[in-house]
Amino acid sequence: MLSLARSWRVWVRLHYLQFPIGKRLGAMMGLAAAVSVLLAGMGIAGLAASNESLRSVYEDRMVPVRELSRIHALFLSNRLILQSALSAVHTEAGPSGVSVLVMDRNTAQLAAESINRNIQAINNLWQAYASKTLAQQEAAQAARFEQVRQRYLEDALVPAVVALRANNHPLTLRAAEQGRVHFEVLAPQLEHLIDLQFALADAGYQVGVERYRNTRLWALVALAVSMLTMSGLGWMLIRSIVRPLERVINTFRQISLGHYDTQIPIEGSDEISKVMQALQAMQTKLGSHENAIHQLAFYDPLTNLPNRRLLRDRLQLALSASARSQTYGAILMIDLDGFKIINDTQGHGVGDDLLVEMAQRLKGCLRQADTVARLGGDEFVVMLVNLGPDANQAAIHAEGIGEKILQTIVQPCRLGQQSHQSSASIGITLFVDQSATIDELLKRADLAMYQAKNNGRNTQRFFDPRIQAALEARLSLELELRHALPQGQLELYYQVQVDSERDVLGAEVLLRWRHPTRGIVGPADFIPIAEESGLIVPIGEWVLRGACEQLKRWENNPLTEHWTLSVNVSALQFRQADFVPMVRRLLEQTGINTRRLKLELTESLVLDNVDDTVLKMKLLNQRGIQFAMDDFGTGHSSLSQLNQLPISQLKIDRSFVAHMASSRNDAVIVQTIIGMARNLHLNVIAEGVETEEQRVLLEQFGCPAYQGYLAGRPMPLNDFVELARRKASVPA
Ligand code: C2E
Ligand code: MG
Ligand code: MG
Repeated sequence: MLSLARSWRVWVRLHYLQFPIGKRLGAMMGLAAAVSVLLAGMGIAGLAASNESLRSVYEDRMVPVRELSRIHALFLSNRLILQSALSAVHTEAGPSGVSVLVMDRNTAQLAAESINRNIQAINNLWQAYASKTLAQQEAAQAARFEQVRQRYLEDALVPAVVALRANNHPLTLRAAEQGRVHFEVLAPQLEHLIDLQFALADAGYQVGVERYRNTRLWALVALAVSMLTMSGLGWMLIRSIVRPLERVINTFRQISLGHYDTQIPIEGSDEISKVMQALQAMQTKLGSHENAIHQLAFYDPLTNLPNRRLLRDRLQLALSASARSQTYGAILMIDLDGFKIINDTQGHGVGDDLLVEMAQRLKGCLRQADTVARLGGDEFVVMLVNLGPDANQAAIHAEGIGEKILQTIVQPCRLGQQSHQSSASIGITLFVDQSATIDELLKRADLAMYQAKNNGRNTQRFFDPRIQAALEARLSLELELRHALPQGQLELYYQVQVDSERDVLGAEVLLRWRHPTRGIVGPADFIPIAEESGLIVPIGEWVLRGACEQLKRWENNPLTEHWTLSVNVSALQFRQADFVPMVRRLLEQTGINTRRLKLELTESLVLDNVDDTVLKMKLLNQRGIQFAMDDFGTGHSSLSQLNQLPISQLKIDRSFVAHMASSRNDAVIVQTIIGMARNLHLNVIAEGVETEEQRVLLEQFGCPAYQGYLAGRPMPLNDFVELARRKASVPA
């Protein structure tokens, strides 16, 4: 049963939907008309049947009743005519002289004629009745009556007419008597026949009533069934239209929401399916048109770069993100120098080609997250994001990208037949939160860009004069640092390291830059620049070489032969692939006792890539080189990490030493570091010891060595040797 219903549904699905909606509606209308015609026909037939019953009640039964009644009346009339003729008598003397009763002649003649007419009338009426198709019971009764009627005619009426005409009273009386006798028999039979007619009429009437009732019932049932069928079919028809229409609406809605890849369901081949097919054909076009509209609205048609509108959107997002993360971003306003001249002299086509080329180059200078937009003409804007939380670093980064852009733009390019070299002016402004509006930021970058133009083009300027000044100072420092080494401006200073007896253990080598105009520049001011520019690699090597050579020189002097030298190694330097070979080479070249050389690494350097660090440290440690963990306590190294590193010394960071007398916390940290070193069998030394109080405290904590202004500031070699000599001759 279930599978039957399912296959019916499948049939409807597969076949019904094949027909167009118009045909389906037409079929419904046709079906409705056919059902109406059928119903009307059934009703008419039913009504005709009941009508036929009523007609037969009247014509087949009432007409014979009238005929039979008239026959009955004619029989009665005959009796009355005879009696009236027999009563109009007088006596006359008969042939034998006996007086006889004689009827009035006229009356007798008139009576004879009347009875004769009545006989004719009865015959006619009976003929009319008997000629009809009679029911079986009726026919039998009629046959019986016919016999009686014949006898009555022959025995009574015909003799009566003869007797009347002959004015024979006795014969007339006898005929009358015969008539009465026959009437006694005939009258009940006639009445019976009439009753039968009434009974048959009633039966016919009942049949008619029954037929009428049945017709009415069947009409109602048929009407109900047809209404149910029609409404069922109508429902199916509506469903077959509404369901697909709903799918059409849903599909349109999806497409209007921009889901152009929406699957379009096509079932059957009716008008709705054709709409869906048409929509499917439009689908890809709509998608590409939408893309085209989006492209037109948000992108510059010439270069395909984001336009001003999209840039503003992205800037808005970048400002919010920057406000949340407190990281800097930058806007670089870029204007090609002399673009107008190219456009005017070589035509717009060439100008356009140049813009397209420059757009490509600009894109090549940026990271994925950054944006380059074209505002119009030869004006481009670059938006840099995530430049970090530090304004100086962000400025350096933005300036670096600006420099990269300037360098890319000056690369020659082919325009038509000629080679052309462009340049650009860049104005930069930084942003960190939403303190400035987009318009303000763009205006600032624009202003800075005009300054750059005034500065002689092919250059960049920051909007903020302080940033600009700092950047310029840094830039010139970097430039000067490049010459510092070859020009012998770098010097090694030595800061003494002593034990608790104030005996010299050695020194830490610290760089100084004797700048021709600035005087002595401390490493804090130039080591970061050296690291960023990569100059730290050759400089670091130079320091190491200097330290090794110094150690070598000290080896022959009993005063100095046991001194160690600590050399700071920067992360960039240590990460160089040839760092270990370079150190080995130096060791071989100088031939020092490697145990006197100590390399200082910071915690962050070590933890950055533990595997690589451990490997390199072990390789050098095998050659006898010692390692000290500089600025210890400021990083996050764990005990287990320390354990696997081949270090021999922890250097307590000077920030803890500086406050340990006043801060309980720092005192505890210093004690902990000393305890930790003892447990790990490591050497420990305190940095930045400036006061006697600090030294005493460190002694109490069990710190065996220290370095700081108290023992001696970083100083040139000669001063250091002099100081050491004094210390050696003046025992503590
Ligand atoms: P560092 O390795 O922690 O060096 C110790 C710093 O503390 C030195 O600063 C030193 O002058 C300073 N100092 C020593 N005793 C005291 C004291 O009692 N009080 C105070 N306030 N300061 C003291 P300097 O020479 O300015 O060096 C700074 C940093 O520059 C060094 O910190 C080191 O990280 C780096 N550096 C110096 N020379 C080199 C080098 O040749 N190569 C590398 N990669 N980095 C170097
Ligand atoms: Mg150091
Ligand atoms: Mg230090």
